[in-house]
Amino acid sequence: MSFQMSRDSEMIYRGSTFGKEILDPDCPPIWHSTACRVADMDDYDFANNGGKYYYNRTAAPNRDMLGDAVSFMESGEASIITSSGMAAISTTLLTNLKTGDHILSSKSIYGETIELMDGLLKNMGIVTDYADFTDLDDVRAHITPETKILYTEIISNPLIRVTDIDAISAMAKEIGALTVVDNTFSTPFVIRPLEHGADIVIHSLTKFFGGHSDITGGSITASKAIIDRMNPNFLLLGGCMDPNTAWLALRSIRTMKLRVERQMENAAKLADALSKDGRVRYVNYPTLSYHPQHALAERLLTKGCGPMLSFRVEDSRDKVNAFIRALSMVQYLGTLGGYRTSLAHPATAFRNEFTPEQLKAMGLQEGLIRISVGIEEPEDIIGDIVNALSVFDA
Ligand code: PLP
Repeated sequence: MSFQMSRDSEMIYRGSTFGKEILDPDCPPIWHSTACRVADMDDYDFANNGGKYYYNRTAAPNRDMLGDAVSFMESGEASIITSSGMAAISTTLLTNLKTGDHILSSKSIYGETIELMDGLLKNMGIVTDYADFTDLDDVRAHITPETKILYTEIISNPLIRVTDIDAISAMAKEIGALTVVDNTFSTPFVIRPLEHGADIVIHSLTKFFGGHSDITGGSITASKAIIDRMNPNFLLLGGCMDPNTAWLALRSIRTMKLRVERQMENAAKLADALSKDGRVRYVNYPTLSYHPQHALAERLLTKGCGPMLSFRVEDSRDKVNAFIRALSMVQYLGTLGGYRTSLAHPATAFRNEFTPEQLKAMGLQEGLIRISVGIEEPEDIIGDIVNALSVFDA
């Protein structure tokens, strides 16, 4: 069979033999095609000027459907869908900053975001300073005439600190800077930063949007004007998501509210149980009255405080290792946000990148354990963790 013949046979799919039952499926198809055929140069000009679709990296139907869903969930006008959360972060910073600009970032953020700021961006002459974003005076004190972005997570990784996003956005507006929020830990079911004055909201879709530990992706949501400004350079940076992953992410979003609400309920129950356990020094979860931003969380996080918590036990590497081995249901994973409860050890995750002194200054002691709470029965999660805590009895 010649290539031409196989191409002819494809024409069946393009022909009139399709009925409505195939052309109007309840679940969208996956458009794997790298390119869509263009009729002539006029058609190419149309496609190339936003008429789309003609080339996958430029625009793709599954990515667009996912982008529409994320924009809706985050109350934004438009979204860029990226190949990972880090692609969303790097694209946002690289396309909104130039040499000489200054980022003022919360010091309690995802470690690899700090690595990006202090590595590649610093080498390009974009300097980042870090402030305690739970202390508005400290934030104000670090602003410079070159500050172009205030960068934060609302519920921070892994210390679960809460940022007063209304106050931070207002401060950014005063100085004409953009407020950029990584909302991965909170999810739009906890808070929608754009409704609180933020300009750009980022997600690692790998986490709660995906929800099943089977995709890697990211998103950037903002006004249409901001997204249109970023898009040409995003296309050149090339970090777009593939159609199959976009389809899976959209499929997963259908159950995200159910998952996240249940995860938040379980997280509050687990936080409560651990806070009463004598072997636990403290629990980082905003529903607890001793959490440093408990009052702020009550005002800001009215729908729940998210599915992530951390707690600190004895600072003994050997005992924490024994605790991890003693767990039977909760798994140690290099990710979070899945429907099953998982654990991470932040100090181990960043041992190669930061010195022991830096780790301590960042609050990442050996005894700090981070939990991504799943949808299992709360008694099972609590039982597994409390049982494994017996390694600290000795
Ligand atoms: N932002 C936060 C808060 C994260 O926890 C992570 C990853 O753990 C990322 C961004 C990066 O996401 P990805 O691994 O999808 O690149």
